Amino acid sequence: MKATAQESQSLVLIVDDEPFIRLVLRHFLEREGYQIAEAENGIEALTVFKQLHPDIVLLDAMMPNMDGFECCTQLELVNYKRIPVLMITGLEDQESVDRAFAVGAMDYVTKPIHWPVLRQRVKRLIQQSQLQQDLEAMNLELQRLVTIDGLTQVANRRRFEEYFSQEWQRLKREQRPLSLILCDVDFFKLYNDTYGHRVGDRCLQKIAQAIKDIIKRPGDLVARYGGEEFTVILPNTDTMGATYVADKICHAVRALAIPHQKSQVSSYVTISVGFTTEIPQPDYDLEEMIAAADRALYEAKAAGRDRFVQNMLLPKSTNSC
Ligand code: GH3
Ligand code: MG
Ligand code: MG
Repeated sequence: MKATAQESQSLVLIVDDEPFIRLVLRHFLEREGYQIAEAENGIEALTVFKQLHPDIVLLDAMMPNMDGFECCTQLELVNYKRIPVLMITGLEDQESVDRAFAVGAMDYVTKPIHWPVLRQRVKRLIQQSQLQQDLEAMNLELQRLVTIDGLTQVANRRRFEEYFSQEWQRLKREQRPLSLILCDVDFFKLYNDTYGHRVGDRCLQKIAQAIKDIIKRPGDLVARYGGEEFTVILPNTDTMGATYVADKICHAVRALAIPHQKSQVSSYVTISVGFTTEIPQPDYDLEEMIAAADRALYEAKAAGRDRFVQNMLLPKSTNSC
C-alpha cells in the first residue's frame, strides 16, 4: 500500500547495533515512504535524536554499552514533545516488556519482526503523537485567547484579576512594593459620538499599543480593565517608579496626536491616570488597593483630566502632564 503524504514526511530513527537489522528496517520503512536516520548504539541515538528531532524512534533493547532501556530512560529527559519510542526486542518475557513501558516506551515489537505489525505500529504511533502535538498547540492558543482582549491585544480583565491577586500574595510574603495604575480615556463618549464607534475602536488599539510600548519589564502587565479603561500592574515598583510610568503614559497618549475636536482639555485625545503604591499588608484587602487607584483616577478627572494623580493619605498631590 502507498504511504500517505503525512507518513512520507516523517523521520524514523532506527537504533540497533546490528548493521544488517538496520539495513532491513531501513529498506522496509523507506518503501513505506519514511525518511530514515540511523544510530548504532544508545549514546549515538541520543545525539542524533537531539539533532534531527525524529517523529519516532525504533529502539533495539539489547545493545552493548548503553542498552535500549537505559537509552529510553535518557531520551525521556530530553523528549519534550513526547516523541514515541517503539522498542524492538528479542525478549518477550514479562519483565522485559514491563521494563520497556516503565522506562517510557510507547509500545514494543518482538524479533523476528512481523512486518505488517511493525508497519501498523509505526504508522499509528506517529499519528497519535502528531494528534497529541496538535492538541497541545491548540490548548496553548486557547489559553492565550482566554487571557487576551480581542480588540486591543493586551491582557483582558480576567487575566488582570488573576495576575493582580497572584502578585499581591507574592509581594505580601516578600514585603515588597506593588504599584497599580488605572487609566481612563478622557471624553471618550464624545469621541465616539463625533468620529463613530469604529474609529473609537482604532483609537483604543493605538492607546493600548502606546501603553504596551512603555511597559518594559517582563513582570509588568498591561490589561484592558473595561471599555476605555486600562490598567498596569507594576510588581516590585515603588512610588518613584510608578510616577515615572504614569507620566510616560500621559505623554505617550498625547504624542499619538489623535485629533479630538470635542475634548474640553485638548485638541487631541488625552488620558487620565490614577495610581497607588503599597506594600501589601495581611490585614488589607487587594480590592482596597484597586479602590485607592480608582479614587486617584477620579481626582485626576476632577482636577481637569490629562494628568496623573497618586493616591496618598494626606497630603494629596496632582501633577499636570
Ligand atoms: P471621562 O472623561 O469622564 O472619562 O468621559 P468619557 O466620555 O470617557 O466616559 P464615559 O464613561 O461617559 O464614556 C466611556 C465611553 O467609552 C462610552 C463608550 O461608548 C465608550 N466605549 C467603551 N468601550 C468601547 C469600545 O470597545 N469601543 C469604543 N469605540 N468605545 C467604547
Ligand atoms: Mg471610563
Ligand atoms: Mg473616559
